[in-house]
Amino acid sequence: MDTRKDTIRFLGTGGARFTVARQLLASGGAWLNLGGTEILFDPGPGCLVYAIKYGCDPTRLSGIILSHKHLDHSADINVMIEAMTEGGRKKKGTVYAPADAFEDGAVILPYVRSYADKIELLSEGGEYCLGDVTFRTPVRHIHEVETYGFTFRTPGHNISWITDTKLFDGLAMHYKADLLVINVLCYEHRFPLNHLSLTEAKQIIREIKPRVTLLTHFGVPMWKEKPWEIEDRISDEMGMRVIAARDGMVFDLDEIDRV
Ligand SMILES: [Zn+2]
Repeated sequence: MDTRKDTIRFLGTGGARFTVARQLLASGGAWLNLGGTEILFDPGPGCLVYAIKYGCDPTRLSGIILSHKHLDHSADINVMIEAMTEGGRKKKGTVYAPADAFEDGAVILPYVRSYADKIELLSEGGEYCLGDVTFRTPVRHIHEVETYGFTFRTPGHNISWITDTKLFDGLAMHYKADLLVINVLCYEHRFPLNHLSLTEAKQIIREIKPRVTLLTHFGVPMWKEKPWEIEDRISDEMGMRVIAARDGMVFDLDEIDRV
């Protein structure tokens, strides 16, 4: 049995413009430590500040993954590439992002790109390798810009992360995993919104049947419902363990085995 630890640190759990602008919740993305391979996920505004505050060392990063270029996911990507590479002096790490993060309206600055050891463009059906971790981008999401969700496989665990998207047929079948992380912006579906509501997330969770689900990326409508106060009710209703991520929370994937 592999004894190395897999953890996810939530540098922020806020999503979308108004939560971010008012910093109702932090918006720094997540720091994955998968058996010692450290990966930064969606470095939104405040990522660097919170990473340092929580003792995460950017120079230990092996890679930075960007699901899409909206600012609540990407605002700190340049400063994090710079921090990972010690101001560009130590060329290292891989930056994974959709092609449109480098094209017209690029969010990753040309001079910073050269600091990374490698740039990999994400695409539908893509498979990527970083140390002992493999991850896939099984399907392009329905969102305003090119967006992907992820399935990660480590020697000990499998994780799916459903990022921003409108609900579409077949979405859930791409994300079977023991741990599901899902971005839930609003409480109830509001048309037209290319984001998931809690009602839709529940539908997806029922299909996937993960052993544990972590809800994150809360917009104002979800924040108002205080997800951290209703998680037990949701878990009882679903008959499955559902946890609302908190700013700064570390989830240890060994928890999955204790469910
Ligand atoms: Zn978005």
